[in-house]
Amino acid sequence: MNILAIESSCDETACAIVEDGKKLISETIASTMEMHVATGGVVPEIAARKQLEFIIPVINETLEKAQKFWGLDNSEQVIQKIDAIAVTVGPGLIGSLLVGVESAKALALAWKKPLVPVNHLVGHIYGNFVENPKDIEFPALVLIVSGGHTDLVLMKNHSQLEYLGGTLDDAAGEAFDKVARMLGLKAYLGGPEVSKKASECKINHCENLLPRPLIDENNFDFSFSGLKSATKRLIEMNKYDTESICKEFENAVVEVLVKKTIKAAKHTNAKTILLGGGVSANKHLREKIAKESDNQGFNLHIPPLNLCTDNAIYIASAAYFNYKPQSLKEIKADSSLGIMD
Ligand code: ZN
Repeated sequence: MNILAIESSCDETACAIVEDGKKLISETIASTMEMHVATGGVVPEIAARKQLEFIIPVINETLEKAQKFWGLDNSEQVIQKIDAIAVTVGPGLIGSLLVGVESAKALALAWKKPLVPVNHLVGHIYGNFVENPKDIEFPALVLIVSGGHTDLVLMKNHSQLEYLGGTLDDAAGEAFDKVARMLGLKAYLGGPEVSKKASECKINHCENLLPRPLIDENNFDFSFSGLKSATKRLIEMNKYDTESICKEFENAVVEVLVKKTIKAAKHTNAKTILLGGGVSANKHLREKIAKESDNQGFNLHIPPLNLCTDNAIYIASAAYFNYKPQSLKEIKADSSLGIMD
């Protein structure tokens, strides 16, 4: 089954065609991320306008690439090979989501194809399934960690998700980005800059000076707001080098994420641990969780770097493994959708 998916929940306009939830046929992503650096964050109105500008060219390019991949003569034949359309319906920026949802509806109507709505967070999980030759054993414990979310979810099977806990305030990625801004490294999406500085740290001069919030609490929740404030105080002391502060901050976040993930996996008798979301590209997190999963006997899958950040490939994969077409009327963009909605 070939599914064409559209993802437009934030500042990426993406389209992809995936066969049987695993094999990538073609994809295109247009990102306005860099545009938002000047304003220090995404301006929803600008993001939505750019989505409108990019959506048709992005879909067209994806169809052209698929035509080449399949060695077909024209786009009509490509459309014939597509079995269904999938689209991210939320959570996300409402203006951006609307562009994707309405475009997907138009395609479904014009091409007479079923339409499958996909939750963006569920989509992130499927970065683990695309192009993965191994079968994922259930139950799987999933850590979704990004600029907008930090959630622990038990995946009993496809379409059977149980929310265990999540952040009570800031998402982990958001805390990384804010620390980058406090240190003057980058105004927007500076999380990777913090990791880069952390990796350059030879001696951590502020070892264990930052808290590990909720690390020993008997729940599966996270809180990064206090850690952010503590980091701000550390910076304001003017006593420590940037590399040490970054290292200590990254250690604090990663220790909490790894310890709580392992604890949740044990508690739920999970066989596998899965990672998803932009922060799962963090090298230190990948190494630490790999080591701990190995020590504790869990199978671990982490998406390749290109499938950590937002894209349409995993939306197509999620649609395949949770195939539930809905009528055009039923499908609405919803910025507030949680993972269990
Ligand atoms: Zn995302």
